[in-house]
Amino acid sequence: MTEKSSSRRPGFYKLSITERQKQLDLEGLLSVEEFNAITAQAGLDLDQAGHMIENVVGLHSLPLGIGLNFVVNGRDVLVPMVVEEPSVVAGASFMAKLARPAGGFRAESTPPEMIGQMQLLEVSDPQAAVNAILAEKDKLMAEAGEIDPVLKKLGGGPRDLQVRIISDSPIGAFVVLHLIYDVRDAMGANAINTACERLAPIVEGLTGGRVHLRILSNLADRRLAKAECTILLDELAFGDFTAEQVRDGIIEAWAFAAADPYRAATHNKGIMNGVDAVVLATGNDWRAVEAGAHAYAARDGRYTSLSTWSKDADGNLKGSLEMPMAVGIVGGATKVHPTARAALKLMKIQSASDLAEVIVSVGLAQNLAALRALATEGIQRGHMGLHARQVAIAAGAEGEMVDKLAKQLVDEKTVRIDRAEELLKLWSRS
Ligand code: NAD
Repeated sequence: MTEKSSSRRPGFYKLSITERQKQLDLEGLLSVEEFNAITAQAGLDLDQAGHMIENVVGLHSLPLGIGLNFVVNGRDVLVPMVVEEPSVVAGASFMAKLARPAGGFRAESTPPEMIGQMQLLEVSDPQAAVNAILAEKDKLMAEAGEIDPVLKKLGGGPRDLQVRIISDSPIGAFVVLHLIYDVRDAMGANAINTACERLAPIVEGLTGGRVHLRILSNLADRRLAKAECTILLDELAFGDFTAEQVRDGIIEAWAFAAADPYRAATHNKGIMNGVDAVVLATGNDWRAVEAGAHAYAARDGRYTSLSTWSKDADGNLKGSLEMPMAVGIVGGATKVHPTARAALKLMKIQSASDLAEVIVSVGLAQNLAALRALATEGIQRGHMGLHARQVAIAAGAEGEMVDKLAKQLVDEKTVRIDRAEELLKLWSRS
């Protein structure tokens, strides 16, 4: 691996923004256009935005940082992360560094199978309707296979048709069909919604009922991505904390999330800090990924942690994260937004599965960052320095004054805007 293709960039955080951009440019990974898109010199323009959503009057920017040190399945990846919250990029990068000595992240994903739902109403005998559908399953599957010629050519398309009766709904019993559909490199919403709409009249003809909703499920539990990492015990000690203390503290903190939904919600939010940042950077639908994550976390009837942490036979810390990951590299905004395209290029992503595997690795790193901080010195210590910079800027500090004011606020342990304004006033008089 050449130095340029490595995701290790010691001292990157100390460089100026321009110096960091130069380092990325040197990479030779991006074209001039892509480089400009990722460095905000030429990202999405108004015209493109006007074609994406309705009533466009402008653009809204967010910071894009690079998650460093990531090795995913033996490959170094520079990870673009779009997020407004301080500490996220630093936390993920630091944990990815701790994971490197044991090989980084091992990730895998299931085939890109999404679920399309059809709600069949007004059937007098639900079981007879189920039987009628199953009797013609092959015909329905063959029909579904012809709907999207691109998917057909790429080896995607229908994989199964499942039928069940929901008997205890507020409107009584009805039938639900699940079309299992391999969407290849797409997120798949449009593709699957189209397929469901096309199959609905046939289902109505077979059953005499009325197909009401025809829409994908965001509980994409057949499209899972999983990452694992090992943090060698030696990597865990810091400050006054022994490696064993840090390791056991992390496992105890995870156990809290595993057992308690109040804690699990915050624990999973920490995972999503990393996940969403990459989902957003690549122009994917973060609401879909969020919905899938939380529904999956409650799949056994009680909301719980998406990750697990334990120690291995050698006493090292072992983490794993599994969650639905409905992301694409074609369709939606992924191809339209210049920065999203450049983000995929920077990561050398070849398929939707590649992307899912990087994202879930970042989620696991982010989870570890939060657990390590919470289990040792508390989240606020690391967070406060970065938070203080935001408070300083909000109070009106500019240039070098941002760092000076932030430091003063942290030293005083009073990171509040009123104090920041007071200090600025005081210093401007002296
Ligand atoms: P799309 O329909 O624009 O593109 C998908 C198409 O890409 C597929 O039909 C397939 O033919 C093609 N494709 C797949 N792999 C390919 C490859 N390797 N090369 C070339 N083409 C390939 O996009 P989509 O992914 O179906 O839909 C995503 C959009 O739908 C997102 O913007 C999302 O926000 C939106 N959406 C989401 C929901 C939801 O999550 N509930 C509902 C409706 C719409």
